[in-house]
Amino acid sequence: MSVRDLIILGTSSQQPTRKRNHGAYLLRWNDEGHLFDPGEGTQRQFIFANVAPTCVTRIYVSHFHGDHCLGLGSMLMRLNLDKVTHPIHCYYPASGKKYFDRLRYGTMYHENIHVIEHPVYEAGIVHDDGKFKIEAAFLEHGVDNIAWRVTEPSTRKFDPVKLKQSGINGPQVRVLEKEGHVIINGQTIHLDDVSWIRDGDSFAIVIDTRYCQSAIDIAKNAKLLLCESTYTEEHRDLASKYLHLTAKEAATIAKKAGVQTLILTHFSARYQDLKQFEVESREVFPNTFVADDLKTFPFAR
Ligand SMILES: [Zn+2]
Ligand SMILES: [Zn+2]
Repeated sequence: MSVRDLIILGTSSQQPTRKRNHGAYLLRWNDEGHLFDPGEGTQRQFIFANVAPTCVTRIYVSHFHGDHCLGLGSMLMRLNLDKVTHPIHCYYPASGKKYFDRLRYGTMYHENIHVIEHPVYEAGIVHDDGKFKIEAAFLEHGVDNIAWRVTEPSTRKFDPVKLKQSGINGPQVRVLEKEGHVIINGQTIHLDDVSWIRDGDSFAIVIDTRYCQSAIDIAKNAKLLLCESTYTEEHRDLASKYLHLTAKEAATIAKKAGVQTLILTHFSARYQDLKQFEVESREVFPNTFVADDLKTFPFAR
C-alpha cells in the first residue's frame, strides 16, 4: 500500500448519534495502517469506508474510556478471522493494562494473530525503526491519556540543476553524501551547496483533554493535526468541567503548534449541525476542517 490518507471512521464522543459513530481514525501511510482509538462499531465502519481491515498494522488507544476502545476486541478478532500474517502492534497507556486485557480477551476465540503490546509508561519516543518514529505525550483528561505523533525521517534532496552546474555525476553524489564534500576541477563543493534537507511529514492526534501545553508540544509543526473539540464556545463550562476542548481551544492549539491543517472531531451528541465548530475554529485557525464519518482527508507528500 503506497497510499497516504486519513480516513475518519467515526466522529462522536461518548454517545454515538444517528449520523456519528464512535470515533476511530485510520491513517494509511505507505505500507502501514495506523488505527487510532477504535470505538464501538469500528469493524463495521471499515465496511462502509470500503477499506479492508487487514491494512491495519498498529492500533493506538489514547485512554480507556469506552468511546476510544470498545471496538478493540472486535477489531482484533476481525484481524484474526482474516488471518493477517503481519504483527499487530498495540500502544496504550500502561496504567490501562487490565482494560486492554479485558478487551483483548473479552470473548471466546482462538487467537492466531501476532499481537505485540507496547504499554506506554512515560512520554517520549515509543518506536523508531528508521522508516518512521512514534512519540507519545500525556494529556490532561483526569485519567492517563496519550496524544500520539507519527513522523517520517527527514531526507536529503539534491538539486539536479546545481549538481549539473557543479559537474557532479552519479558516483560523485555518493561520495558527496558520504564525505560531505567533493573536489571537482580543484574546487571544493559542499553537500549543502547542492542539496537541502526535506523535513519528514508528521501527523499528530490529540483526543480528550483540556487545553494544555503537551497538546501543543506534540503537535509542533505537524502537517496534519486531528484534535478533539467536543464543544462549541456556548458550552465552554462543560468543556472545562469534563476536561475537554472547545473548537476554539483546539484551534488555539493548532495555531500555537504551527500545524498546517487542523481537523476537528469527537463531537458531543448535543450538536446536530457542526457548522458552528468550523466557524469558531476558523476565527483562530483558518485552515480548519470538520471531520465527518467516512470522510477521507489526503495526506499527500
Ligand atoms: Zn472521548
Ligand atoms: Zn475520555
